[in-house]
Amino acid sequence: MSVKVRIAPSPTGNLHIGTARAALFNWLYAKKIGGEFILRIEDTDLERSEKKYEDDIVEGLKKLGITWDGEIYRQSERLEIYKRYLNELLSSGKATVKTFSEEEKDALRKEGIEPRDSIIVLVVDSMGPAVEFSDGIRGTISVERKHLGSVSLAKDENTPLYNFAAVIDDIEMGITDVIRGEDHISNTPKQLLIYEALGKTPPQFAHLPLILNPDKTKLSKRKSPVSVDDYVKDYLPEALINFIGFLGYTYSKEILTKEEMAQEFDLGKVHKSGAVFNIEKLNWINAQYTKNLSADRLESVTGVRVPEKALPLITERLERLSQVHEYEYLWKAPEVDPRLLLWKNSSSDDVKKSLETSRRVIELGEVSDKERMRKELDAAAAGNRGLIYWPLRVALSGKKASPDPVDIAAVIGKEETVRRIENAVSKL
Ligand code: GLU
Repeated sequence: MSVKVRIAPSPTGNLHIGTARAALFNWLYAKKIGGEFILRIEDTDLERSEKKYEDDIVEGLKKLGITWDGEIYRQSERLEIYKRYLNELLSSGKATVKTFSEEEKDALRKEGIEPRDSIIVLVVDSMGPAVEFSDGIRGTISVERKHLGSVSLAKDENTPLYNFAAVIDDIEMGITDVIRGEDHISNTPKQLLIYEALGKTPPQFAHLPLILNPDKTKLSKRKSPVSVDDYVKDYLPEALINFIGFLGYTYSKEILTKEEMAQEFDLGKVHKSGAVFNIEKLNWINAQYTKNLSADRLESVTGVRVPEKALPLITERLERLSQVHEYEYLWKAPEVDPRLLLWKNSSSDDVKKSLETSRRVIELGEVSDKERMRKELDAAAAGNRGLIYWPLRVALSGKKASPDPVDIAAVIGKEETVRRIENAVSKL
């Protein structure tokens, strides 16, 4: 039987890192085995679902290079199908309409739920055997029926609920493996009972480990941004996907494409314990990719056109793409704060002299000859390197921290270097 998997996001928010991870792992699994991977939008919750979120999810997946087979399915377009199955269950007595007593409604209100008069539930024999399944990652899981609570199927004939609609779709679409986040693990036994009631064979289930904040609490908005959108301005899609691939898996090397991940991917090797979202690791991975960026690509991802000469100085240092703005002095003269020009205890006269010395050194040769510049500046410093290099750095970059000023001079050229030094001197 050929493998078919899916990602089934609810469009109730922008593309979540956890959804992107589940999408990637499903994609990897399908790719490795040569199976199909589909996208299904679970938009039956009309109050919380919005088209703008669906668009964000679709665009986000595309941006990350996660492609699916065929059309996008939408549950809101499949209501007739759920209704048919629901009627089948109702007429065979396997589902029933449960009405709420006034007491039950009060209890629901206390939980903050606005109660309905009734709901359609699965008829579950609470004395039946424990519900058991073999999770592709976590091994055997078994739950007593009495611990399951009621299995709600639909608010009414036309309004299916998640567990029911998902099962019907997984049956109708021929899904062979359901790979999703561990937060769904408590839904699985309920879904298995629905398969049982319908007389259908369930797919294989596998639950991916939770994604955690560095303090090991569940990844949450309050501690780290959780939507993919929050990361795309700072990270290349190939770096992000590389990083996401490690959220619950260890590959043989740190830097790899999703195609390379697919070659190694083995569901049984997905970690059981939580996957920590480590932003330093993301920065590091991103830096490995930015090293090789062309000026065109950098422009397309940041909107900033960097002169060819300045490119290596920037790409060697970028961890986050938006940091490109910190290097503007490589193509545009900076504002220089005269106070910043002063080195430690030196007087403004000392600094002026130092800058004039630097100017002479620079005027005497070619700025492309960095070795000569360094040698002569070192000689002029006569042991007080700070007094030479600090004001020169500030004059050229306007900043406390920058690449070596000699490297900056080589990028901006002799004339511009001299102009910036003169400008700094005039401020002292
Ligand atoms: N709509 C569910 C979600 O967004 C899908 C869970 C599943 O994969 O079954 O979490």
